[in-house]
Amino acid sequence: MSVLTDLIYGGSNAVAGLTEGAVNDAIAKYGAEKEIAFPDTAYFFPTIYAATGVKVTKLGDLPACVGVLKSLITNQEDLNQALNAGLATAVGAEILEGLKYVEPKDAYEQATVPGIGFVPDPIIRSLGVPLVTGDIPGVAVVLGKAENAEDVAKVVKDYQSKGIMTFMVGDVIEQCAEAGVKMGLELRVIPLGHDVTAVIHVVTVAIRAALIFGNVQPGDLAGLLAYTKERVPAFVNTFGAIDNVVVSAGAGAIALGFPVVVDIDLGENQVPGALESCTDHNETVKKSLELRGIKIKSKELPIPVAFAAAFEGEIIRKADMKVEFWSAKNTTCELVLMKNADEVEDHKITVEGPDIDSGDLEYALATVVEVYGKKMQADFESVIERKIHAWFNYMEGVMHTGQRNQFRIRISKDAYDKGLRLRHFGEVLYHMIMDEFDAVVDKCQITLITDPVKATAFLNDVALPRYNMRDDRLASMTDESVDRFYTCILCQSFAPAHCCVVTPERLGLCGAVSWLDAKATYELNPNGPSQPILKEGCLDERTGRYTTVNEAVKNATHGAVEAVTLYSIMEDPMTSCGCFECISGIEPMSNGFIVVNREYAGMTPAGMTFGELASCTGGGVQTPGYMGHGRHFISSKKFIHAEGGIERIVWMPKELKDDVGEKLNKTAKELYGIDNFTDMIADETVCTDCDALMEFLQEKNHPVLGMEPLM
Ligand code: SF4
Ligand code: ZN
Repeated sequence: MSVLTDLIYGGSNAVAGLTEGAVNDAIAKYGAEKEIAFPDTAYFFPTIYAATGVKVTKLGDLPACVGVLKSLITNQEDLNQALNAGLATAVGAEILEGLKYVEPKDAYEQATVPGIGFVPDPIIRSLGVPLVTGDIPGVAVVLGKAENAEDVAKVVKDYQSKGIMTFMVGDVIEQCAEAGVKMGLELRVIPLGHDVTAVIHVVTVAIRAALIFGNVQPGDLAGLLAYTKERVPAFVNTFGAIDNVVVSAGAGAIALGFPVVVDIDLGENQVPGALESCTDHNETVKKSLELRGIKIKSKELPIPVAFAAAFEGEIIRKADMKVEFWSAKNTTCELVLMKNADEVEDHKITVEGPDIDSGDLEYALATVVEVYGKKMQADFESVIERKIHAWFNYMEGVMHTGQRNQFRIRISKDAYDKGLRLRHFGEVLYHMIMDEFDAVVDKCQITLITDPVKATAFLNDVALPRYNMRDDRLASMTDESVDRFYTCILCQSFAPAHCCVVTPERLGLCGAVSWLDAKATYELNPNGPSQPILKEGCLDERTGRYTTVNEAVKNATHGAVEAVTLYSIMEDPMTSCGCFECISGIEPMSNGFIVVNREYAGMTPAGMTFGELASCTGGGVQTPGYMGHGRHFISSKKFIHAEGGIERIVWMPKELKDDVGEKLNKTAKELYGIDNFTDMIADETVCTDCDALMEFLQEKNHPVLGMEPLM
């Protein structure tokens, strides 16, 4: 037998033995009826569920799984057979990790080493959009113990600066922490756990992506492996000596289509394209990205700090802050303005007033971006302007929250010491606009006004009137007032059968694509993911059924979906990819709908959590009664219009209700003359079960009680 297959089988057999023992011990301790589950998932033990269709819910389900696991280990001298043994290791790891959650206080709660363990479903859903837009270009798994901590820290920081999401397992976590790598989900460097079995927590992310976005059916192992290989851009780096368990786990990764790069010399045991050595750590990143076919759009900007999407979630505390621009204390605003050719001098960057080295702690700031372009339209001003938030955040040491004239920017001492000044903010805006909006912007100039008098004058004379004008235009923009809608198929890289139809009153379900965004996307890239649908051939106004929409969707999904309505949740509802901000689901007792946002982890009166509701739709499948959508759609006059509109909403988590409440109340007043409609909608502080919900609705005399049955 070759050294490699030998190692794989050795590792798989060892894991099989460990797993069997642990399962037996757990059953002896807690009994076969003891319930077992990973936190916040609708996919049970995801690897076992996806590969075999078996739903593990109690300890007594596990011995059969151990049997399947063992059957995968044939000990035959054949690489494919050996890769199957790698999958057995994955199953074993999943069971061993799952058992950690049986204990009253699970191992991850107790751990002294940082490690998040199992990644809940909602986080995976939230990764959909950044992955499809290339904002997160890939997923790295870094495990082991580096000979020199600096080597692994350098590699991880490099991934971070490229926006790659990095999951870490083993000693590398402490090594990176000590070397000053900033960690956290929002920073895209995620410690999973110390035991090598923790690697399963990134494997199940890939596996659940197949179930959530890809509509891969549980039990379809071949479909699962094809999905992860083709659509999940993940790869593995190991550091330090590798034992047979690591090798067999690596074989599992290879079976899923993820190449493994090790930092020891494997000589003739390398498997080209799948298992390769790279002993020079300066080459690890390059080699890994090449093996997985990941291309990074490099952004070299003339600024003294790093610039990467990975810094978007960075928080700057008061103690680390050098200066602040904050609307609560000083005038602030940011505005993109369309101008004539002779009014814009390309790449002119001006700071009007003191720069941040004048000694003050707080400044006013009006960020004025003036653009000219032959194909520029006033509607694109807000599309560009909304990106300022992300671009400023991408600077390491800069935090930006809010927008328009309500924002807060903090600059860290560290960034200041590296030489960051306001002029660099202008450089960032200039380069990013010319990079992303070059199809509509020919020239661009930036003025940063810190002079408080001038900033205030600009706010009052130019910015506020402009915001108001735009708001009026948005408010007047209805589905009736336009002659076209747009498709969006960005998510097809994960959900090949899904297509969003975006209208002025119904934004994309991810919440990130409004009709204006889709329009801009089309103008910027006429062959891109958004295509116009001329609003013709209305078949039914009530449900929003159009021949042109059906044709466009059928075309965009290659025949997978033949008909969707724009305004119904019961009749041919729009499909979901899986990354929706909210899901609406039927609550049969009240004949109403509950609306749940991704962030809400608790129970709902429908008897299902967000994750469980969400698993009812996704992957481009239509499930009448369940529909994913964006937050802003809730207050739309078109929200489940065919079923009676927002009057059907009976329950929402409090946070969501507070967030959309003002607009929702306005819509209810306008449509039905109801005051303070949100007071009639229950939330988790009122109830999470359907009986109490009915009592509440009766007490409030909720309009749903007088409506026709849904079914
Ligand atoms: Fe994906 Fe739809 Fe959002 Fe486009 S609009 S990015 S397809 S969820
Ligand atoms: Zn999506």
